Amino acid sequence: MPLLPFNEARTLITAHMEEGPALPPPETTTLDQALGRVLAKNTVADRDYPPFNRSTRDGYAVIASDVVDAPVVLEVIGETRAGEASQFRIERGQTVQIMTGAPGPEGADAVVMQEYSQRDGRQVRLDRGVPSGKNLIFQGSESREGAVVLEAGTLLGYPEIALLGSVGCDRVTVHRRPEVAILSTGDEVLPIEAMPEPYQIRNSNAYSLAAQVLRAGGEPRILPIAPDVHARTRDLIEDGLRSDILLLSGGVSVGKYDFVESALRDLGAEFFITSVAIQPGKPLVFAKVGDKPVFGLPGNPISTMVTFELFARLAIDWLAGRKDSRLKFSSARLFNDFKHKPVLTRFLPAVLSGDYGDVRVDPVQWQGSGDLVALARADCFLVATPDRDFWKAGEWISILPR
Ligand code: AMP
Ligand code: MG
Repeated sequence: MPLLPFNEARTLITAHMEEGPALPPPETTTLDQALGRVLAKNTVADRDYPPFNRSTRDGYAVIASDVVDAPVVLEVIGETRAGEASQFRIERGQTVQIMTGAPGPEGADAVVMQEYSQRDGRQVRLDRGVPSGKNLIFQGSESREGAVVLEAGTLLGYPEIALLGSVGCDRVTVHRRPEVAILSTGDEVLPIEAMPEPYQIRNSNAYSLAAQVLRAGGEPRILPIAPDVHARTRDLIEDGLRSDILLLSGGVSVGKYDFVESALRDLGAEFFITSVAIQPGKPLVFAKVGDKPVFGLPGNPISTMVTFELFARLAIDWLAGRKDSRLKFSSARLFNDFKHKPVLTRFLPAVLSGDYGDVRVDPVQWQGSGDLVALARADCFLVATPDRDFWKAGEWISILPR
C-alpha cells in the first residue's frame, strides 16, 4: 500500500466512515450536562431575537433625524427600565429615558448615551447626534422566530449552551457518545499500578488514549493488555469489536512479534491504510471488520497521541454525529532557524513564547516519539510540511494545538 500524505489518509477515513456504521439513536440530556455533547436536532428560535428593540446603553431613545443638529433639546415623555414593557410611542421632538436592556419606545430608532445628556425636569439637552440604529438592536435582527439557530451536528461549547438556554431548551437532544475500546499490546507493557522490571514499561497509552477519547466525546473502555501472542491478541480484539470503535496501540510495525495485523486479518478485517507519510506515527492501520472501524496506532506514546488526533478522532467525531471535524491548524513565527528532511510531514512537540502580536514557536529538545517528558513541556505541535526543508527564524510555520 502507498505511503499516504496525512490529509489524503483523512479523506479516505471520512469516506469509509460515510459508508457506515449508522449513527445510534439520539438521547436527551439536561442543558447543564450538555457541554461537549453533539446536537442531534436543529434548534429553532422560539421568538424573535432580540424579542424587542433592545437598548445597549443607558440614555435617551430618539428619532435619529431629530438629533442631527445636536445640541438639541427634547421633551422627555417617560422612562423605561430593563424588565419593563415599553408603554410609549415618541413623536418628533420627544424622547424616553431608557436603561440598558430595556425595550425602546415605538418610533425610536437610536439611543443617545446618558453621558451626552443634560437633564432639566421634563426636558433634556442632547449634545451629540447619532445615526439611525445606534445603541439599539432591532427586534429580530439576530434571529427571526422559527429560524434555525444551531444545526444538528454542532458540538456544544459554552456559547452554544448559552444560546440553547436563551431559546428555552432545558432539555437537549444529543447524539449518544460512541464507546471506544482501547487495547494496548506488548510483552513489555504492564498495568500502571504494577512495579515494572527495568526492561518493562507502564501502559501509559491506555490512559492518554482514554483522555483523548473523552475529550473527543467518546466513552473509553480500556481492555486488558494483550501480550505479543497471536491467539490472545485475536481474542482481545474480538472483545474490543463489541464497542463502536476499536483502538489498538503497538504491534503495527514490521517486528517479528507485531501481531495486530495478522490477528485482524484472521477476523476478516479489510485494510484501507497501513502507513502514512508522517513522523511521528508512520505505521498506522485503518481497517474495518464488517462495519466496525479499527485503528492500529503505533505504540510509541507520542506517535499514539498524534495518530489519534490526526486519524482516530475523525471516526469518533463521525460516530458522535459531529459535522465539523477539522484540524484546527494555526501558525506562529519561528524562534530559530528550522530544518528537516522533507518527504514526511512532521508533528514536533513545540513551545510557544513571546507576547501578544509576536508569538514565537520553537521545537522542544526531545529524544524522539517516546519522550513524554518533552511532550508535557510542549504547548503545541510544530507542523513541518514536506514541500520544503528549511525555514528561517521569524518565518511563519504551521502549528497544531495539542
Ligand atoms: P510498538 O509499536 O509495539 O513497536 O512499540 C513501540 C514503542 O512504544 C516501544 O518502545 C514500546 O515499549 C512503546 N509502547 C508500546 N505500547 C505502549 C503502551 N501501551 N504505553 C507506553 N508505551 C508503549
Ligand atoms: Mg510492541
